[in-house]
Amino acid sequence: MKKSILDLNIAELIEFLASIGEPSYRANQIFEAVYAQHKTSFADFTTLSQKTRTILEEHFYLRTFVQEDEITSTLDKTQKFLWKLKDGYKIESVIIYENKRTTFCISSQVGCALDCKFCATGKMGILRNLSPGEIIEQVLLMQEKIGKEPTNIVYMGMGEPMLNYESVIRSAQVLSDPKGFALGKRRITISTSGIIPGIKRFTEEEQPFSLAISLNSIDDKIRQKIMPISKKYPIDELMEAAKAYTESSNKLVTFEYVLLDEFNASAADAKKLVQLTHRIPCKINVIPCNSEDAEYAPPSKAKVAEFELLINDKNRRITLRKRKGWEISAACGQLYAKNEKKNQKQSKSK
Ligand code: SAH
Ligand code: SF4
Repeated sequence: MKKSILDLNIAELIEFLASIGEPSYRANQIFEAVYAQHKTSFADFTTLSQKTRTILEEHFYLRTFVQEDEITSTLDKTQKFLWKLKDGYKIESVIIYENKRTTFCISSQVGCALDCKFCATGKMGILRNLSPGEIIEQVLLMQEKIGKEPTNIVYMGMGEPMLNYESVIRSAQVLSDPKGFALGKRRITISTSGIIPGIKRFTEEEQPFSLAISLNSIDDKIRQKIMPISKKYPIDELMEAAKAYTESSNKLVTFEYVLLDEFNASAADAKKLVQLTHRIPCKINVIPCNSEDAEYAPPSKAKVAEFELLINDKNRRITLRKRKGWEISAACGQLYAKNEKKNQKQSKSK
């Protein structure tokens, strides 16, 4: 059966080439054509013989997605894409422009099992994991759309990367392979809701990629309410795992903090957040919630500003980075949800 060539790392490509009697250096030529030259047809792999091109064509796809939808924020140019996968499932990817950065935000699963209350993806449940190739294809397609390379890639789209660990790491390896997509390893950030075994494995394996943890509350009771997975992995253990990661890797960890009025956005919360994180070399990313569910509303602008001031004011190793565009252009899973509603309406009216 034909499969995506993006699912193969260089070792597997060498193995395939051996099976058709081709030398291993061809793997580098293929990687170069796929990831550096962005060829979208095997016919254009001019460094290969016609015969090899035909064999590749018979065995592999170069692209498997169909674009289903696209929106661009009029305020800050954030672009959001909805792709239809080979089996009909749909996933989202986003491009965020901020100063000189062009960040590609990609999905790791179709849906998510973890059911965070403020997250549209959580409402889908988990449908399946993405393959490494499906993770990578999002990046290649977005690059083709805008004709520009990303400066950063974040695994902050649909899904929990640590629950699709192997495919996530394999995709990040290809995306940072100097013979592959060649993005700097630290420019690739894996974001987790706090799956402690995943963080520990990431630490033990000395993964070179950056790590973000979606903290979202400093209080176990509240965190359990908004992120049910927190019942399994309480905050103190999560902070220990985060600290161990920073010590072993000598890198900062990023804490994501989605501001939800009534849940985690008070001045007392801000102060506790500083206390909780001050022993850990970290950055804090504060994001006012964007949800269509009135229960999970963002705080007022003034409250957000006060929160930011309180956590920034302390002379500690905390930097504040606000992810622009997120709040304006709809958060992860929301384009999917809109598209589903539209499709339901259309099929009803048929
Ligand atoms: N599952 C992983 C990665 C995907 S979610 C994780 O939870 O970290 C990526 C980020 O989007 C998380 O930090 C999450 O808290 C945030 N997010 C989810 N829903 C949001 C919303 N409605 N508004 C703002 N941020 C949201
Ligand atoms: Fe899953 Fe992350 Fe959404 Fe939580 S925030 S439901 S972990 S995608």
